[in-house]
Amino acid sequence: MGSWPPEVKGTTSRFKRPLGKYKIIKRANCNNCGLCVKLCPCGVYKFIGKKVMPLREYRCIGFSCEGSEHYCVAQCPEKALMVIKNPTIEALGDYRWTSDLILSTWYQAETGNPPDYMEYKIGNSGGGFDRLRFSFEFENQNFSLKEDVSTTIDLNRRNDGRPQVTISVPWYGGGMSFGSVSLTTMLARAKACMEWNTFTCTGEGGYPEALIPYKDHVITQVATGLFGVREETIKRARIVEFKYAQGAKPGLGGHLLGDKVTPDVARMRESVPGISLFSPFPFHSVYSVEDHKKHVDWIKEINPKALISVKVSTPVDVDMVAIGSYYAGAHIIHLDGSYGGTGAAPDIAKKNIAMPIELAIPKVHRFLLEEGVRDEMVIIASGGIRTAYDIAKAIALGADGVVIGTAELVALECTRCGNCERGRGCPRGIATTDMELSSMVELEWATQRISNLFHSWYLQLIDILRRLGMHSITELVGKTDCLFYIDKWSENG
Ligand code: SF4
Ligand code: SF4
Repeated sequence: MGSWPPEVKGTTSRFKRPLGKYKIIKRANCNNCGLCVKLCPCGVYKFIGKKVMPLREYRCIGFSCEGSEHYCVAQCPEKALMVIKNPTIEALGDYRWTSDLILSTWYQAETGNPPDYMEYKIGNSGGGFDRLRFSFEFENQNFSLKEDVSTTIDLNRRNDGRPQVTISVPWYGGGMSFGSVSLTTMLARAKACMEWNTFTCTGEGGYPEALIPYKDHVITQVATGLFGVREETIKRARIVEFKYAQGAKPGLGGHLLGDKVTPDVARMRESVPGISLFSPFPFHSVYSVEDHKKHVDWIKEINPKALISVKVSTPVDVDMVAIGSYYAGAHIIHLDGSYGGTGAAPDIAKKNIAMPIELAIPKVHRFLLEEGVRDEMVIIASGGIRTAYDIAKAIALGADGVVIGTAELVALECTRCGNCERGRGCPRGIATTDMELSSMVELEWATQRISNLFHSWYLQLIDILRRLGMHSITELVGKTDCLFYIDKWSENG
């Protein structure tokens, strides 16, 4: 780990005309006086030779600028400018990942800071984290680094002789397999997580050798298809994750379309190129807590230093699953609620099967408290964690930390188009194994974008803790009294 926090480096979009919320129409009567170049605080205009062009139109803050002395539309001596809402934006995103949230995540990945004029805390789903607020949210923000505020969490609380694993931020990256995303995407996630002293996860698709330099920050996954699971990869990992189910598609297992099974992916998974691969549900060797313990013991025997995480979806009896995992010897119970998953997860499953994570977290937290084992078990939550505020809310509800995934892809300019399952479906070259599409993403660029997003989240978490009068993220665990729920009635006054 280098300097702390890792350095922000401005990392602009890789596209010539990035999508923005507003469009600038510049009429032919512009005399290229350059006044707008000087005025605009967002750096929208640039001289190309002697001509002024709105080259960074995507940075325009639109009508929020109206009334200020630098509003280019009002100041232009020729009245040559017009700002309109970009009609394309209407088609971007959905109720959970709104266009504002996508654009503000891009902004954070570019600058390492939360934006001033865009929504970056909540979506518009009408429920869950989008209706929870911290009681202080109406006070002024003050994003400054505070050295006396700690965001680190310990992942081994069992005092069982296995090493302690401490991460410097209360999040790590969820499993995305080689095959579901490109090698560049995997490497960028791993490199950024190494900088931030946290983890990424291989997912169920094997452990590409290119990840070995980052092995101290890579969780290896053992899932039902056992694709790419080898003794050497288990021995290499500081944390091994059993994936019993995925919140986005509980009971359905995994499915990698033949289209994405390139020769490299097939070799890694010991299969045949072009053939679709299924990970069944469930583990057919586990039908009881005793079977589960046998599984955990198996990994502990192979790697006497590894911590064991158990990833489960959120059925109504998820509290029983959690206590079973405790008695089986797991260090981490990873609750994966609905809402997560890439565009490869079917919507019908995402929206209708698992319990929303904001309900599952307090249920498990309270049950483990009642059972007297909460202090020994780490609760990690995932399934729709999009923002720093979602992270803090999940922790206030009772989690120790969270797992993220989609937000990292959005940092790489994913548009949430939902074409992830197809071999040549991802127009952004992120969730693809196609050589040509993957080459659209450059590794250093992608690493920095993810790292910048983490920086913005880090600033926000410090600010949240500061405003709650806390010195450590661990103080926030289970503090539901910091939150309140905005129901429809109070919203309408
Ligand atoms: S201020 Fe108006 S006239 Fe001057 S360069 Fe900008 S758009 Fe053209
Ligand atoms: S841009 Fe790529 S990663 Fe994002 S949803 Fe579309 S296909 Fe999936």
